[in-house]
Amino acid sequence: MAEIDDPQQSGTKTPMNDANAPSSTATIDPQRQEQAKRYARQRRLLSLVDLAIGTTFLAVVLGFGLHLRLRDLLGPVLAGWQPLVGWAPGIVAAMILIFLLVYGVLSLPLSIYSGYILPRRYGLGKQSFAGWLGDLAKGGLISILFGLILLEILYLLLAIQPLTWWLWLAGVLLLINVVLANLAPVLILPLFFKQQPMPEGNLKDRLLRMAQRAGTRVRGVFVMQMSRKTAEGNAALMGLGNTRRIVIGDTMLQEYTPDEIEVVLAHELGHHVHNDIWKGIAVSTALTLAGLAVVNITLHTIVAAPFAGLHGLADVATLPVLALIFGIYGMVTGPLGNTYSRIVERQADQYALDMTRDPATFISAFNRLANQNLAQLDPHPIIETLFYDHPAIGRRIQHAQSWDADHPRAMSAKVHTKP
Ligand SMILES: [Zn+2]
Repeated sequence: MAEIDDPQQSGTKTPMNDANAPSSTATIDPQRQEQAKRYARQRRLLSLVDLAIGTTFLAVVLGFGLHLRLRDLLGPVLAGWQPLVGWAPGIVAAMILIFLLVYGVLSLPLSIYSGYILPRRYGLGKQSFAGWLGDLAKGGLISILFGLILLEILYLLLAIQPLTWWLWLAGVLLLINVVLANLAPVLILPLFFKQQPMPEGNLKDRLLRMAQRAGTRVRGVFVMQMSRKTAEGNAALMGLGNTRRIVIGDTMLQEYTPDEIEVVLAHELGHHVHNDIWKGIAVSTALTLAGLAVVNITLHTIVAAPFAGLHGLADVATLPVLALIFGIYGMVTGPLGNTYSRIVERQADQYALDMTRDPATFISAFNRLANQNLAQLDPHPIIETLFYDHPAIGRRIQHAQSWDADHPRAMSAKVHTKP
């Protein structure tokens, strides 16, 4: 559905290796920076609107007791089927689908504006509306599927393990996290972006040499076909075990010099050498466990209160209560997760600088990225702390400058590449 409007699949998108690649050093485009600031301001405003819609929705549901009425309405029809005492999967599924559908419809105009209209206005979005909508539907269906499975497990555990459900759930989430991290690059990403192995040549050889110097092995290097959907550049380390790979967007391969791409690949190699995917899973599991402990106490307290009108922990009417507790918890822990992520990203930058010993190219690559993605160089430190999962690009550039200052000229020259 998403691909139907793509007019061509000609070979013009084949990523170039060295030929046709730009050779000049990139500097910050002041005009693009002005645009970047406006773009960032508008996106922040939209995320506040999004928060307001979600909060109002929950306030209306809880304030008017709609969750209790819906439960009483669905109960006689669907609560009969209980494969395990206290767990009524039919009514759970119906409740979840109704909530998701209503909330999805309420927030659809905002999704269209922030996901389609705004990026297009700034020249970043390249998809047709039908294609974009198709991707949104695909993403929505995947979320609903996983949401349904997870919430059914949650209500099953609430019914049969009212005291330790949260520990079991943390275990289930950890398992899902690991499986998803493994399957994402081969199962989920291809639904949105085609990938192909990076063509043999100079760049791939350089990456493999870097990996060899790092004493590790890269299992796969893939080029992701992003350019038909977006003008933004991106690269990532993805997958676990046999699916682990470095993925780079064709939007970078086409527009960056080979030296700059080497810096980007070195950064991703840094994530690999530092085991950042496993560490990320560990950190998110710890945060989840702490969150579920809080949810457990709060939920027991609310259910025990007579005014709440809840029949027990596994009463499906607890759904909006859970959404509210999780929402507040997410707002508190989001900045913590982001801070951890920024530390990890800085370490990968440090790795890339140590490996390539070429801060000038590092700076050029990040100048190019700021211009290309309309990334603001210097957001307010509070904004960066709360919302940025990577250090602001201005800070990353400063990092490279201080690396340069710490390493005498003769050292930072690429002596190791001499024959
Ligand atoms: Zn990174």
